Amino acid sequence: MKTDFLVIGAGVMGINVARELKQRFADASVAVIDKENGCGRHSSGRNVGMLDAGFSWPADSLKARFCKEGNEQLSRYCEDRKLALNRCGELVIARDDDELSSLDGVQRRAESNGVELETVTAREAKEIEPRARVHEQALFSPTSAAVDPLAVLQQMEQDARSVGVKFHYGNSYLRKAGDELIATRGTIQAGYVVNCAGLHADRIAQEFGFGTRYRMLPIKHSYLESSEPPGAFRTHITAASELSGSYPGVRIVLGVDGRPRLGPEVKPALWREQYHGAEGFQPFEMSGVVKLGLSQMFQGGKEICRACLQRFRGKAHSRLIAAGSRLAEGISPNDYRDWARPEIQPQLVDTETHRLVADFVVEGDGKSMHVLNTVSPAFTCGLPFARYVCEQIADRIDSGGD
Ligand SMILES: Cc1cc2nc3c(=O)[nH]c(=O)nc-3n(C[C@H](O)[C@H](O)[C@H](O)COP(=O)(O)OP(=O)(O)OC[C@H]3O[C@@H](n4cnc5c(N)ncnc54)[C@H](O)[C@@H]3O)c2cc1C
Repeated sequence: MKTDFLVIGAGVMGINVARELKQRFADASVAVIDKENGCGRHSSGRNVGMLDAGFSWPADSLKARFCKEGNEQLSRYCEDRKLALNRCGELVIARDDDELSSLDGVQRRAESNGVELETVTAREAKEIEPRARVHEQALFSPTSAAVDPLAVLQQMEQDARSVGVKFHYGNSYLRKAGDELIATRGTIQAGYVVNCAGLHADRIAQEFGFGTRYRMLPIKHSYLESSEPPGAFRTHITAASELSGSYPGVRIVLGVDGRPRLGPEVKPALWREQYHGAEGFQPFEMSGVVKLGLSQMFQGGKEICRACLQRFRGKAHSRLIAAGSRLAEGISPNDYRDWARPEIQPQLVDTETHRLVADFVVEGDGKSMHVLNTVSPAFTCGLPFARYVCEQIADRIDSGGD
């Protein structure tokens, strides 16, 4: 294959970067390869589909920069294309006196990110969501919503095809060989390579000499699906104090059909795609994850050690039910028996600071660009984030290299 631009990965990032490139460089050929037999087989098609409003992220982050705009654009996108959108909103609650001060912090962050968040009394909160357990005050985010991520992604893929992007599925990038790329379906000559490979993006970036300070710590998220009918809850519910850590705390998330989920249960996976048990066992990746955990233990990476120790907490079901009962009334274990299919975030560890990388990372030059650490809320951010990646590419090409 010969192409001007080669995008690796048909997730929300790869598809939208490819479409933007084709629109910007109309005469250039743009091809997307993906190792799977269709788009969205990993994070982008499996996530819980929450449209994040953007009040949780530090103002100077790429997440904050793209989340509000991404939420607006994706909501409009769903309405224009007649894709399902549940404008359920989100209640951020205080459960005790300590959490009242967390509400102030969340409100300040929302203000600096320009995100709408209304302060409501406990009585008003109950009118919005009768089952929420609210101590004195809460915040209501009217723009938090829910979509069907796979349906959205398939539409985005159609949009990219319609402007001339070519998709090649079942074709896995294997390695770089000089100026050529070796893939399972043969050699590829690409003028410019854009790496949007999600859980595998760090490995590919390192072959091009980028992202060398990062290592992958794949983090598995699992949610309990409720058998309660749609309408059992009216909004997403989150506790204010749970918004400041490295991981999201337990929350109640509504699907596009209004069906509630409770989670996430968060723990490291032993290899990048360890969705179920020993399926797809990758001994080399497993030894890398174990080595990373051990080396961080000796180098003082407390946050990472804590993350690794989450594997040994046991009794996930009862822990989630207990956490859910602190958010809302009437959470019965009988209604939350089944696990939704798990999802794995491409979480990077910074080996220089010994910390989990909080923000998205984009690195590249005049030959290749690498989109790394696309953790939540990269789906919400997808449209403006993809435009930003294309601007970075255009700048590097215009400046003739570095
Ligand atoms: C539990 C969970 C819930 C989430 N919920 C939300 C949410 O509610 N809202 C939100 O905004 N975000 C959410 N996210 C985050 C969001 O899903 C991801 O950030 C986003 O989908 C990442 O997109 P991506 O395109 O970077 O990666 P992916 O969707 O993983 O795409 C990468 C693609 O690259 C392909 N690939 C990999 N290696 C190769 C190779 N060697 N050759 C060819 N192809 C390759 C893969 O097959 C894959 O299709 C959630 C994440 C998790 C874990």
